[in-house]
Amino acid sequence: MIPYGKQSISQSDIDAVVDVLKSDWLTQGPFVPRFENKLCEKVQANHAVAVNSATSALHLACLALGLREGDYLWTSPITFVASANCALYCGAQVDFVDIDPSTYNLSIEKLSDKLEEAEKSGKLPKIVMPVHFAGQSCEMDKLYSLAKKYDFKIIEDASHAIGGKYKDHFIGGCQYSDITVFSFHPVKIITTGEGGAALTNSDELADKMRLLRSHGVTRESSKMAGQCQGGWYYEQLALGFNYRMTDMEAALGCSQLERVDEFIKKRHEVASQYNTALQGLPLVLPYQHSDCYSSFHLYVIQLNPTATSVQRQSLFHKLREAGIGVNVHYIPVHTQPFYEKQLRLTGALCHAENYYRNAISLPIYPDMTSLETGKVVECLHREFVDD
Ligand SMILES: *Cc1c(COP(=O)(O)O)cnc(C)c1O
Repeated sequence: MIPYGKQSISQSDIDAVVDVLKSDWLTQGPFVPRFENKLCEKVQANHAVAVNSATSALHLACLALGLREGDYLWTSPITFVASANCALYCGAQVDFVDIDPSTYNLSIEKLSDKLEEAEKSGKLPKIVMPVHFAGQSCEMDKLYSLAKKYDFKIIEDASHAIGGKYKDHFIGGCQYSDITVFSFHPVKIITTGEGGAALTNSDELADKMRLLRSHGVTRESSKMAGQCQGGWYYEQLALGFNYRMTDMEAALGCSQLERVDEFIKKRHEVASQYNTALQGLPLVLPYQHSDCYSSFHLYVIQLNPTATSVQRQSLFHKLREAGIGVNVHYIPVHTQPFYEKQLRLTGALCHAENYYRNAISLPIYPDMTSLETGKVVECLHREFVDD
């Protein structure tokens, strides 16, 4: 089976992890701060807080921004459930903004209309979370203007998007946001096994996230409420968690980060092969906004229902039968049974639902060969022969 995504592990990645295993520190050693510094250098942010998953990073980001009961977080329905769950962890509620039908990112027009309505009813969100779908940035300059106008905070869910750019800056620099979150799950752009990070330019937000990452406990005397009583002494200042990343993971992250540009270049090569070879089929190919350099975490095609009678279900099935590990990203979060039960949606999400009916993610990963790309292309052409 050709998978839809796959990590690329080199001998230096393996050596980096083995070296940590032979060292004195498996966790809380030198590699986590080293990885954090490398992330900051790469994307030009002041702080990076490495954690055990993007889900944990999203949770910490919400807590650091003070999200709590009575508050709203708005995000896109076309995302992984973790983007919404983090609001509920904090006792807040979630609402969804429909997507832009060309980029599949949260629609700025829909957001603007929804904010205008919410202002009238006194239910403005505390946080808006754009998700850089497939690695293509949202229109952050416009989102930032809306944040100033309506006084909300921005967390970028950039789980797909490390190495991608918006207006010539790497995503993660937080020019237009309070916090940006990356995922290092193996299907994402670079991996640490499990892992994530929250980036910010704010000293205060970084301090809060660092404290909460490790039980709410500090060993720094300058941060203590009372007197430091000796070398053993620590203080718990808040209710935190154990969301720490290990040194094996961070060492893998350091090594993987060296290759992020190469990974994305390869992903672009696969995408451009698809773009050329799938021309003329009744498919909608990924639209690229001129402000964006996508990391191409996903290559999503949509069936064009006005041009073909082929249904997504049967195309999916046939591709899988042919050994092509296609997938669907994502089932709209608001249609999940857990959310359906409790949501009080304040608007239709037609573009998201329409997108979901027709979307399929094709295999894309750095080590994909042109033979493999060719096989995917050939299968797709075969499905539309009699159409
Ligand atoms: C993968 C993903 C997450 C969760 O990442 P983990 O590191 O697995 O916790 C969150 N949001 C989006 C959009 C994702 O794709």
